[in-house]
Amino acid sequence: MIDIITKQRDFFNSNKTKDINFRISQLKKLKNLIIDNEKSLYQAIYSDFGKSEFDTYVAELSMVYHEINNCIKNLKKWSKRIKVPTNLTNLPGKSYVIPEPLGSVLVIGAWNYPFQLSLIPAISAISAGNTVILKPSELPLKTSQVIAKIINNNFSEDFFTVIEGGVDTTTELLKHKFDKIFFTGSTNVGRIVYQAAAKHLTPVVLELGGKSPTFVFADCNINMTAKRIVWAKFFNAGQTCIAPDYILVEKSIETEFLSALKLEIEKYYKNKEDISDNYPRIINSRNFERLAKLIDHDKVFCGGNINKDNRFISPTILNNIEFDHKIMEDEIFGPILPVISFSDINTVIKEVKNREKPLSCYIYSKNKKTINKILHEISFGGGAVNDSLIHITNDNLPFGGIGSSGMGNYHGLFGFKSFSHYKSILHKSFWIEPSLKYFPYTKNKINILKRLLK
Ligand code: NAD
Repeated sequence: MIDIITKQRDFFNSNKTKDINFRISQLKKLKNLIIDNEKSLYQAIYSDFGKSEFDTYVAELSMVYHEINNCIKNLKKWSKRIKVPTNLTNLPGKSYVIPEPLGSVLVIGAWNYPFQLSLIPAISAISAGNTVILKPSELPLKTSQVIAKIINNNFSEDFFTVIEGGVDTTTELLKHKFDKIFFTGSTNVGRIVYQAAAKHLTPVVLELGGKSPTFVFADCNINMTAKRIVWAKFFNAGQTCIAPDYILVEKSIETEFLSALKLEIEKYYKNKEDISDNYPRIINSRNFERLAKLIDHDKVFCGGNINKDNRFISPTILNNIEFDHKIMEDEIFGPILPVISFSDINTVIKEVKNREKPLSCYIYSKNKKTINKILHEISFGGGAVNDSLIHITNDNLPFGGIGSSGMGNYHGLFGFKSFSHYKSILHKSFWIEPSLKYFPYTKNKINILKRLLK
């Protein structure tokens, strides 16, 4: 392992990655390799947890293609020196900021979107001119193997390489010094990564999880709200970091909204296992058992069917839930949606604010005042008004959490920035040197400086 890290450091120090054309050629090569290996990726992801080709294309491949295309298109612009004004006392002179790569970076991926969560940060890192060691999640084993095959058979180890493995491998990797660690995963493991990084003063981006609240107000379009929430929550069988974790619905529309949710679920998912080709399974038995225990059968409004043999859990709605119910303790990360009703907006905002800052928050309402109140009062990573999940597809929006849902962000220019250092330069000429700052420190000089340095 240390061998690869040393090789990457040497390669970085050769300045090869500072060449923008080199970066662009590597991104183009990566894109062509993904195109050539699409079939293996579909098969691997399906075999790991039953994700359909549609889901894999929409939430994995298309996002990776988009990221590569965007980086290829904008890389030259993003890497340019940025001229900034020079302050009076430094004249004559000019000032500029140089985006420069950090060095050798480590990217650690999560399992739920095993391809894009590994590749998109790696693409940002390459675009910014770094060398990359990528450690995909070990849980979707076949996908991890295909990613390793694509990268390791085609890129030189000293520039971009995949190291496969689980906790032991990550623990070993984390002992070494990197110039940045980009981690996607749970808040608990995020703490471990942060502690390990601190030993070397390595900066980190932590893309973590949390319980994302979804507000549904009486003035929303109830049917469309239900349709959008059902799609967003049960996409990938709820195994999405930014899925609506729980619903907060205004009491006056609770019954109507619950019926609309049920109707949508029945329309698309039918609560039967005959949806196997379009509905992923839970990633492993441990998560299946965890989720099965969260289904409080006294609270099931619809769904609640499970099959241990193929790790199936039907889209499930729980109602009459209170904030102190067990399901409100941790991120659900599965196809179970608790619904809490409320009458007073201030009380419910207070409840949300008593919890850790979420990765996302969604607000369904037509009332600007209500929307702005939530946006103003609740701190969260990012979100959407009158939709859920799809804000992730707009790479003009930085993607990342806050507090225990993460730090730092990426996508598009934001990813490039996360893997760059912005080096500040004041550039002076030799033609004049005022005596003001030099000895002797006279009264007159102080008076002039007092006027200038404000
Ligand atoms: P995880 O934290 O269990 O694992 C993530 C990575 O860390 C894996 O590569 C794994 O091998 C490694 N790892 C696990 N335990 C470790 C340990 N003790 N020491 C060192 N490394 C270890 O997370 P997960 O189960 O893969 O993913 C689910 C979590 O990730 C959820 O909380 C979800 O919200 C979050 N997530 C966040 C985002 C985001 O963009 N913010 C995206 C996807 C998932």
